[in-house]
Amino acid sequence: MSTANKFVYLFGSIRTEGAAAMKNLLGGKGANLAEMCRLGIPVPSGFTISTESCTEFTERGQQHVLALIDSEVRRGVAFVEHEMGKRFGDANDPLLLSVRSGARASMPGMMDTILNLGLNDQAVAGLANRTGNERFAWDSYRRFVQMYGDVVMGLKPVSKEDHDPFEVVMDMVKAKRGVRLDTELDAGDLKELVARFKALIRARIGRDFPVDPWEQLWGAVISVFESWNNDRARVYRELNDIPQSWGTAVNVQAMVFGNLGDGSATGVAFTRDAGTGEDLFNGEFLVNAQGEDVVAGIRTPQQVSLVGSRRWAGLAMVGEDERRTSYPSLEELMPNIYAQLLQAETKLENHFKDMQDLEFTIQQGRLWMLQTRSGKRTGAAMVRIAIEMLQQGMIDEKTALMRVVPDRLNDLLHPIFDTQALKEAQVIARGLPASPGAASGQIVFFADEADDAARQGRAVILVRQETSPEDLRGMSVAKGILTARGGMTSHAAVVARGMGKCCVSGAGAVHVDYKARRMTIGQQSWAEGEWISLNGSTGEVFAGRIATRDAELSGDFGALMALASRHQRLEVRANADTPEEAALARKFGATGIGLCRTEHMFFEGGRINAMREMILADDEAGRRRALARLLPMQRADFEGLFREMSDLPVTIRLLDPPLHEFVPHDEAGQHVMAVEMKVSPGKIRMRVEELHEFNPMLGHRGCRLGITYPEITEMQSRAIFEAALDAQARGSNPKVEVMVPLVGSVREFNAQAAVIRRTAAQVFAERGAQLPYLLGTMIETPRAALVADSIGKQAEFFSFGTNDLTQMTMGFSRDDAGKFLPDYLKMGIYEREPFRSIDQKGVGLLVAMAVEKGRSVRPDIEIGVCGEHGGDPASVAFFHRTGLDYVSCSPFRVPIARLAAAQAALGD
Ligand code: PEP
Ligand code: MG
Repeated sequence: MSTANKFVYLFGSIRTEGAAAMKNLLGGKGANLAEMCRLGIPVPSGFTISTESCTEFTERGQQHVLALIDSEVRRGVAFVEHEMGKRFGDANDPLLLSVRSGARASMPGMMDTILNLGLNDQAVAGLANRTGNERFAWDSYRRFVQMYGDVVMGLKPVSKEDHDPFEVVMDMVKAKRGVRLDTELDAGDLKELVARFKALIRARIGRDFPVDPWEQLWGAVISVFESWNNDRARVYRELNDIPQSWGTAVNVQAMVFGNLGDGSATGVAFTRDAGTGEDLFNGEFLVNAQGEDVVAGIRTPQQVSLVGSRRWAGLAMVGEDERRTSYPSLEELMPNIYAQLLQAETKLENHFKDMQDLEFTIQQGRLWMLQTRSGKRTGAAMVRIAIEMLQQGMIDEKTALMRVVPDRLNDLLHPIFDTQALKEAQVIARGLPASPGAASGQIVFFADEADDAARQGRAVILVRQETSPEDLRGMSVAKGILTARGGMTSHAAVVARGMGKCCVSGAGAVHVDYKARRMTIGQQSWAEGEWISLNGSTGEVFAGRIATRDAELSGDFGALMALASRHQRLEVRANADTPEEAALARKFGATGIGLCRTEHMFFEGGRINAMREMILADDEAGRRRALARLLPMQRADFEGLFREMSDLPVTIRLLDPPLHEFVPHDEAGQHVMAVEMKVSPGKIRMRVEELHEFNPMLGHRGCRLGITYPEITEMQSRAIFEAALDAQARGSNPKVEVMVPLVGSVREFNAQAAVIRRTAAQVFAERGAQLPYLLGTMIETPRAALVADSIGKQAEFFSFGTNDLTQMTMGFSRDDAGKFLPDYLKMGIYEREPFRSIDQKGVGLLVAMAVEKGRSVRPDIEIGVCGEHGGDPASVAFFHRTGLDYVSCSPFRVPIARLAAAQAALGD
């Protein structure tokens, strides 16, 4: 039979037709079951109905597919009967089957499993006879009718809030019998349940529960095919880019039972520790139980290995005597079976060359493997397993690099909550996971008070409606930041990520009353000084204090980064504004600064006053006086950066935000400013009103500031070049890149370039020394991308400001999109949050076009990106493909971007 018209693939001890390489046809589960059989590992025999059958079903319907697969399925059942020595539908000793879906890619929750298929009123008696266990037989039958009724006959409630009708009946019978647990029901009760369940089915859908095993089987198979097209599965596929055409396979397999007495058991195991990555076989099992009992959490599972069991006892504070008698390991309890299991796990890991997650059942002293797949693991385990397997010679460099999901490095880079402590914590609100990490601290509502508290050595969480540049210092000393408003690119989020500080933003349920110094969530409220905790990786806010653990940048992490460096083409720079951030960026392997936002330097200490003086000045002379006060401070800042980065490039952007961000908007603040500036409060108010804009993001900002006030550009350029020469004189080799923001026309760029070049020439002449520098621009307005060839003739580098480019291309503000974007994402209007992962089809098109246009006029033009997207793995892959030279992101995302860049290069 050729594969073109073969639909069913057998697996078992004497014959196996599938293999691991046939995932597309057999689904992940089916392919691995076949592979285990090929390896001589004991697997209950069965067969897999191919994914192509599902496609036939979807395209041409039930009758068509049944005709196609009928004879092959019958051959499959005959094969299983032969292997297991039982007959399907036999009233004396029935073969029972399980039916499970299994797509190419894992699709959680697509279809539930059906177990014990083949039971009916006659077969149940046969099963009771054969096993000598009437309760077991009727419990199996009860479970089967329930699962089949739910899944195949459609009684399962659609919404989580509704009760499963079978559970309702079960609760009623338990109440009548005065028992609490399912296990307390006897054979008589279970018989009653089966009768009631069947009656329920008849009443609900007007049809009887099918007693013919073949009818049961076909019903289950068709139901798996149908599940491929249910809404949940469709949405999941759309969100995960899984083609609708793939289809799911159906695995039909002989049942084995872990609940046939004390010689039976069921469990799950991992070939390595999924939490730490340690090369240690581990797992849990329950004697006399079914698979679902292990997850149900009613009984305490025992550990598979003796080492694991002793470790567990230590943590659970169980003494050795109690452990040995009440919770012995499988190694102690069934040493022979344990030895077989150990052999199987070693074989499987060596074969698949990855950590495996195994399911097994022991039926009356005989071991059966039910599943093997690559196991899920923590970020730390991911890194350790990849590096150790590389060192053990199991995998090559490429495989090791591809094994680590870049975003999961986050788990390693930031402090995390102690797992035990977290279990007892209470979530009080949720916001956006704006900046990862874990933090506990006392609530403060004002940045300056955060500063005072930190000076006294107190751990604080800064809670704000939203943050502004004035809060920088407070933010930098707080353990974490919580805001009620703002999205993933809000001020708080961007700044916190840059600082590597834990931040939850846009937690809408949080109400901040600055006057009363209280935070309210629903009915509860918290005063200043009370403890809360934040998880910036999940967006959760907790009441109280939770113990945290510091990140350990282990040797494995370093080894992984060294590997990445060997393979990445795209460089990774960092967005950093201070020498401290620059140092952090270097530590994480950044090869330059891709964006220094100079405005962040204007808020520190007394600088804000000089800045405000400039803003208040009536004329150019007044502005120049104020700028002269700012000059030495800027120069010192830049010199610090040049020194820290030594001979790596430092891209400095000229002033960008609208001036109103530097002035106080509340009366009290204006009053203080008036006293400090020695002017009337009225004058301040008037100026603030003048600065008001209806749409500041599209207002007087970016290069528009430098064009109307060239003296600002002049001062900043002077500070840059003087600092660079100072650094040079001290032995550094600064690579200066001056960047003009928010250009839309080449004439804007030219106007600014003239000021910068003139200033450079002046400084060089005054100092009698010079250095090379690059003069370039951000591409962050759609127009700049459209006319990138004309701009590229003048600018020596491009840096895509994808934050602005996204908001201007999409037409929604990054600060306000939080009101509707979550709904958009839920509805699938956008697949990914466009401020986090670049919209490749739209904004990405502008990027690609600008790259092409830029290179067409200046082939060696340096091109990078400095928007938030520079740290997002999917976007990094896109920028790699688009031919950029570098991405620039927050220091803490540098390792993530480096790994993503290496993976993108390996994918070429
Ligand atoms: C950008 O727009 O992508 C950018 C980096 O600039 P900012 O976020 O400071 O506007
Ligand atoms: Mg911008």
